[in-house]
Amino acid sequence: MSNTTYDVLIIGGGPAGLSTAYLCHKNGLSYLVLESGKAIFQGIANTYPEGKLVYASKPKDAPEPFMVEELRPPDKPVTVESYLQYVQHFVQHENLNVQTEVAFEDIKDERDGLTVVTSKGRFKGKKVVLSFGSNIPRELSVYGDAKMVAKNVDDASKYIGIKTLVIGGGNTAADVIINILKAKREVHDTQPVYWAHKAETFDVNKETAQRLGEEILLGGNIRLLPGAQPRIGEVDDEGVDRLVIRINEFKQTDGIDLYHALSFPMQNVIACIGSQGPVPIFDKLGIQSIACAAGVCKIAKEGERLVLLSSEFESTRKGVYVIGGAISPSYMKITEGSIVEEKHPNLIYTAINDAYYVVEAIRAKISK
Ligand SMILES: Cc1cc2nc3c(=O)[nH]c(=O)nc-3n(C[C@H](O)[C@H](O)[C@H](O)COP(=O)(O)OP(=O)(O)OC[C@H]3O[C@@H](n4cnc5c(N)ncnc54)[C@H](O)[C@@H]3O)c2cc1C
Repeated sequence: MSNTTYDVLIIGGGPAGLSTAYLCHKNGLSYLVLESGKAIFQGIANTYPEGKLVYASKPKDAPEPFMVEELRPPDKPVTVESYLQYVQHFVQHENLNVQTEVAFEDIKDERDGLTVVTSKGRFKGKKVVLSFGSNIPRELSVYGDAKMVAKNVDDASKYIGIKTLVIGGGNTAADVIINILKAKREVHDTQPVYWAHKAETFDVNKETAQRLGEEILLGGNIRLLPGAQPRIGEVDDEGVDRLVIRINEFKQTDGIDLYHALSFPMQNVIACIGSQGPVPIFDKLGIQSIACAAGVCKIAKEGERLVLLSSEFESTRKGVYVIGGAISPSYMKITEGSIVEEKHPNLIYTAINDAYYVVEAIRAKISK
C-alpha cells in the first residue's frame, strides 16, 4: 500500500468520476481516479454503438447549466468516437491523476480515513466517491471469476491456436464468438470455440444470428454447449487456474450425481454474462438502501431498493459518496428529517453536475 493519503479517491473514470477529478484538481484537493477498464470512459466505450451521436441532453426541469463546461458534450452532437478522443486529450492536457486497469473491490474503515481495496492493492483516502456507473459486470460466482468477466474482446488474435470457451447466451457472447471465429479463419486455425449457456436455448437478434451463421458457413469451428453450468474453479497440477463447466448431469436414485464436465484454462475463458445494478455492491459495502413500499415511489417500482443519500450525495457510510449513473434513475434523499424519492436521470449532465456538488461538499468538510 502506498503511503499517500489522498483527499479523495474516485472509483470509476466516466463522466462523473472525471468531473470529480477535474474539480479536485482545480480546487487543490489531492485525488486519484481508479478505473477498471483499459482507458477512461470505458463504460461509454463498452455500451455505445459505433458512430452513435452523443447528445448534451439536460432534464427539462433542471435549472443549472452543465457545471463542468470542459467535459460536457458539444451542443451540436458529435460521434461517440470523437467525444472519447476529446476527453482523452483533455485528461492528458490537464494531467489528471488516473490509474487504469484497477478494479475496485471494497472499502475498509481506518482510524484516520478510508482504505480502498482494489485488484492492484490498497489506496488510502479521506473521502471516497463511488462513480462506477450503472452497469456492473455480473460475476460467475466461481473461484477466479473476476478475471473472466468481459463485454467484448479487445484482441481476438489472443485466442488463435487455443480452444476457447465463451459463456453467455446473448448478443454480446455471439459478437465475441464472431470476432474470434473470424480471426481464426483468417489464419486457418481450426481449434474450436465452445459456446456455453446455462439455458437450453441461445437468444440473439436476427442480424447477429446472420453474421454468426455466415462465420460458421465460412468454416468457423463452433461447439454449442446449451444447458452448461460453470461450477468450480480449480488449480491443476501445473498450477494453472481452470474453470470446470458441467455439460450434463444425471441424478441418481442413490443420491450420488453423475455428470460430464469440461475443464478449461481460465485464460481461455471469456464470460459475457451481462451486468447488474449496483445494489449488491452497496450491500457488500454496508451502504444502506430502502425498498420502495406500495405507493411511495413514483419512479422505482414497488420492492425495488434505492440507495439512501444525503442532499450532498453522502451515503450512510461516513465519507463515502455515490454519484452519476450508479444512483439512476432515482435514489432516496434524506432532507430535514424526511426521506423522499429523488428523480435522477442517467445522463452525462447529471453525472457532471453531481460531481460539482460533491466536490463543493468535500471542500467544505476538508477545510473545516
Ligand atoms: C447506449 C447509450 C447511449 C447514451 N447516450 C447518451 C447521450 O447521448 N447523452 C447523455 O447525456 N447520456 C447518454 N447516455 C447515458 C450516459 O452515458 C450515462 O449517464 C453516463 O455515462 C453516466 O456516467 P457515470 O460516470 O456515472 O458512469 P459510466 O459512464 O458508466 O462510468 C463508470 C466508469 O466506472 C468504471 N467502473 C465500473 N466498475 C468499476 C470498478 N469496480 N472499479 C473501477 N472502475 C469501475 C467503468 O469502467 C466506467 O468507466 C447513454 C447511455 C447509453 C447506454
